Amino acid sequence: MTDHAQEIIAGLDPTIQESIQKVISTCLEQGLMIVPYCGYRSVLDEMKLWRQSRSTDEIEQQIDKLQTANCTYLADLLQQAGAQNGPHVTNTIGGFSWHNWKQAVDCYVQGDDGNPIWDASNPGYQTYGDIAKSLGYTWGGDFTTFKDATHIQFNAGEIDNLYSIKQVNDIFQSNGW
Ligand SMILES: [Zn+2]
Repeated sequence: MTDHAQEIIAGLDPTIQESIQKVISTCLEQGLMIVPYCGYRSVLDEMKLWRQSRSTDEIEQQIDKLQTANCTYLADLLQQAGAQNGPHVTNTIGGFSWHNWKQAVDCYVQGDDGNPIWDASNPGYQTYGDIAKSLGYTWGGDFTTFKDATHIQFNAGEIDNLYSIKQVNDIFQSNGW
């Protein structure tokens, strides 16, 4: 495994590091090479990604909503994220992706030539998803709103069903992520 991939795993929650290694080694046993390329993402980085496909109005409304809910930590980070440009890559503001909680990882399928295969219809992604699911993960290829075949997460639930926005604000404020 590359140093970069190892760093990504080391940045995940210690409780899932072993099981992600197991996903990778089980894939390898089936002749499939998967490579982690994104693990922990800070709340600020998630805010930047969220902003990049949204209008100023939408962003202002979201900041107001956070401030009204007394979630100033998240509101400040969304403000700090600054102007961004790019495609729509996330449905969630910072704090609401399992990547922010160190509980999700994105892996690509590596081709025989050593290069990443980004085509999600490549059968390797289905194999990766099946193996991850058999080891207790939820696979992004099964998502209905924003399918992401590279993504696996240890928790099945959505963060906004588990915590209120204020709880998320307070958790990240206290752990400083
Ligand atoms: Zn992901």
